[in-house]
Amino acid sequence: MLTIGCHLSSTKGFLHMGREATSIGANTFQFFTRNPRGGKAKALDPADIQAYQEYAKAHEFPVILAHAPYTLNACAKEGRTREFAWETMADDIQRMEQIPGQMYNFHPGSHVGQGVDAAVELIAQCLDQAMSEDMTTTVLLETMAGKGTEVGSRFEELRAIIDRVKYPEHMGVCLDTCHVYDAGYDIVDHLDEVLEEFDRIVGLERLKAIHLNDSKNPFESHKDRHEKIGAGSLGLNTFLQITNHPKLRHLPFFLETPNELPGYAEEIALLRINYKE
Ligand code: FE
Ligand code: FE
Ligand code: ZN
Repeated sequence: MLTIGCHLSSTKGFLHMGREATSIGANTFQFFTRNPRGGKAKALDPADIQAYQEYAKAHEFPVILAHAPYTLNACAKEGRTREFAWETMADDIQRMEQIPGQMYNFHPGSHVGQGVDAAVELIAQCLDQAMSEDMTTTVLLETMAGKGTEVGSRFEELRAIIDRVKYPEHMGVCLDTCHVYDAGYDIVDHLDEVLEEFDRIVGLERLKAIHLNDSKNPFESHKDRHEKIGAGSLGLNTFLQITNHPKLRHLPFFLETPNELPGYAEEIALLRINYKE
């Protein structure tokens, strides 16, 4: 069974997201832990969480994916911005611990001229302050497009962060198809080679989730503009190869394509029909 969902709005709570996911043929979903532009998060409602967990069990939802605000920059130059990043991350992780065993994805950030090595150190410091030995949430680094001074567009940079943190056993990677293609990994014509490279540098056992997005831009353009599945430079066949790939087919897939719910339902149906059980 293909595990697939899309990004949903979290404003109406977890049970609502679960039902919404079911209504579009999904069996997982991604959501922002708070307003993506930052700001204070609402306290989670224990009754909603309990209701969601029962719903998830009854509908056989595997893991779900929380996404940190994309404005968070753990390797910013300003101490205040970095402090905000670790406070947000620590708070998000603590809230996720109320639904044990899920995943939390974040963008490593932009080094704004400080260089990759300094950024890796700052990101690791942030993670060390926000994570704990006994946590049940897995923290994922997202592969980035390499826009501006973004960190995490090379597999080596992700590996360097994981190598440097105190609790690497709680860390993984979320591969974004639009981002890696933008970053210069040719998953259209050389998917196997890219996966071999990922395995050699990071280790495929670290790959925990996939963001399925087509791209509005050509290969290696470092732009990060998502497109609907099959309507961009990656093309439908690339997505069918990814969801059916022996090394990837068991992973949870999340659409972040420019769609409303009916568009997501169509993409999910298309990928399900073409999934070889
Ligand atoms: Fe993201
Ligand atoms: Fe993404
Ligand atoms: Zn993106």
